[in-house]
Amino acid sequence: MSISGKSAIITGSNSGIGLGIAEELARLGANVVLNSYTDNPEDHALADRLADEHKVQAHYVQADMADGDACRMLVNRGHELMGRVDILVNNAGIQFVAPIDEFPADKWNRIIAINMNSAYHATAAVLPIMRSQGWGRVVNIASAHGLTASPYKSAYVAAKHGVVGMTKVVALETAQEPITCNAICPGYVLTPLVEAQIPDTMKQYDMDRETVIRDVLLERQPSKQFATVEQIGGTVAFLCSSAADQITGTTISVDGGWTAL
Ligand code: NAD
Repeated sequence: MSISGKSAIITGSNSGIGLGIAEELARLGANVVLNSYTDNPEDHALADRLADEHKVQAHYVQADMADGDACRMLVNRGHELMGRVDILVNNAGIQFVAPIDEFPADKWNRIIAINMNSAYHATAAVLPIMRSQGWGRVVNIASAHGLTASPYKSAYVAAKHGVVGMTKVVALETAQEPITCNAICPGYVLTPLVEAQIPDTMKQYDMDRETVIRDVLLERQPSKQFATVEQIGGTVAFLCSSAADQITGTTISVDGGWTAL
């Protein structure tokens, strides 16, 4: 099954990994819906650029993935715009770091809402559409933190483990249909989110940039290299190819060996 002509919705895709996935799917000929909670001219310009460069349909739909109704609206709007939804990539995510006894409840709730609950709402909305079409791929962007833990990341680790668990359930519920559901578990990827942490970490540890990257950020990534947004995009494309028709309910780590340790 070719990706060309398919239609994909990627949540949280005006930057970083989500944008990388949208770029790769558009490059392979898929129509794409980009999303974030903002509604800036630059957001729409990203969709226009993808449409121009790859000669596909590309739309930007503003929807706050912290709000369950908005997640469902995004799927339904994508369906209206493209006429079908073959691929859903649940990617939107945020991070906040604090010891659990100091973790602010509003930050906890927001991380669980955006990083986990949004995948539930969007998947629940998209499955009837995929069933009526007779084909579908749900790809959840979890994390190495969906399989392992780090201190101070309780909400993030809980949400990502939750996403991995939900992935298995959705796979079982769709096992006899031409629909699959899998999670990708990236290690560190050098996105704007991670790049923004480097200057403060350099100050905190009195280290140069290279040492911070090798000894702090990539401490648990044995390859000592970041994964790239292109690699995550390529992994999504693989999961949407016919080679992956019997891959469902599993996780694919793209983490330079992190979870082999
Ligand atoms: P990023 O900050 O560059 O991208 C996050 C995206 O989510 C952005 O497009 C942002 O606008 C969007 N977003 C945030 N809040 C939203 C909301 N309320 N509604 C809609 N969209 C919202 O970060 P990233 O590194 O590209 O992260 C993308 C995903 O990959 C996240 O789920 C993250 O947990 C996961 N991940 C990232 C890494 C990494 O090292 N960068 C590693 C493992 C997993």
